[in-house]
Amino acid sequence: LVVTRDLSKLFRVGSSRIAALNHVNLTIPRGSFTAVIGTSGSGKSTLLNMLAGLERPTAGQIFVAGQPLHAFSEAQLVAYRRRQVGFIFQSFNLLPAMTALDNVALPLSFQGMPKARRRARAKAVLSQLGLAQHVNHKPSQLSGGQQQRVGIARALAVQPSLVFADEPTGNLDSKTSERTLRLFRVLIQRFHQTWVMVTHDPHIASFADTVVSIEDGRITGIQHNVHEELAKP
Ligand code: ATP
Ligand code: MG
Repeated sequence: LVVTRDLSKLFRVGSSRIAALNHVNLTIPRGSFTAVIGTSGSGKSTLLNMLAGLERPTAGQIFVAGQPLHAFSEAQLVAYRRRQVGFIFQSFNLLPAMTALDNVALPLSFQGMPKARRRARAKAVLSQLGLAQHVNHKPSQLSGGQQQRVGIARALAVQPSLVFADEPTGNLDSKTSERTLRLFRVLIQRFHQTWVMVTHDPHIASFADTVVSIEDGRITGIQHNVHEELAKP
């Protein structure tokens, strides 16, 4: 369970102040798939970054399984990110000198997993995302959509309890998007993961169970979707 209370983030740029998030109150149940939808600059990435412990709020609280994330020390935040969080970045954030396989295996080394197991796990997750033929490619040797899927594989390889995805299908064609979103739903059910996905696309958001709309840093609506078709194997 993830809960935010009056979560706010103020950015200062020169003499101006931007309220990227303004008193956001959200409850995200364990094992749920939530989409956050809003226009460019509405505060979606800011919200996601704070839930993932990548940025600190200016005011308000975040509780993850009862733990006060807003009050965590730097070391506690690092441990939270490594042990519990998978993060899919809007801009991939792959290491350019490393192959797809090594990019995906890297977070597993932080967990102390032995090398042979890391490589096997990374290969399996890359295959699940349709990249079995590309494990030894470096990011510059992959298309944008392939790089995006390496970023997804890296986030999922650690089998996190929480997954935060920032426009995870932004570079994928509609067929690959839908296949990937179905995989997300399978993983949520299989591992009882909690997912929060940012998107500006209502069709992408329709794959989630709950859609939170955000405008100018404020929640403007919450909608629930029904997925009888998608829930079937
Ligand atoms: P997009 O769909 O374009 O990715 P977004 O909804 O993710 O947009 P955010 O990145 O959360 O939007 O930005 C929300 C607001 O906060 C914007 O007005 C942005 O300019 C501002 N902002 C974000 N990060 C910073 C920063 N590091 N410093 C200053 N202002 C920032
Ligand atoms: Mg963004």
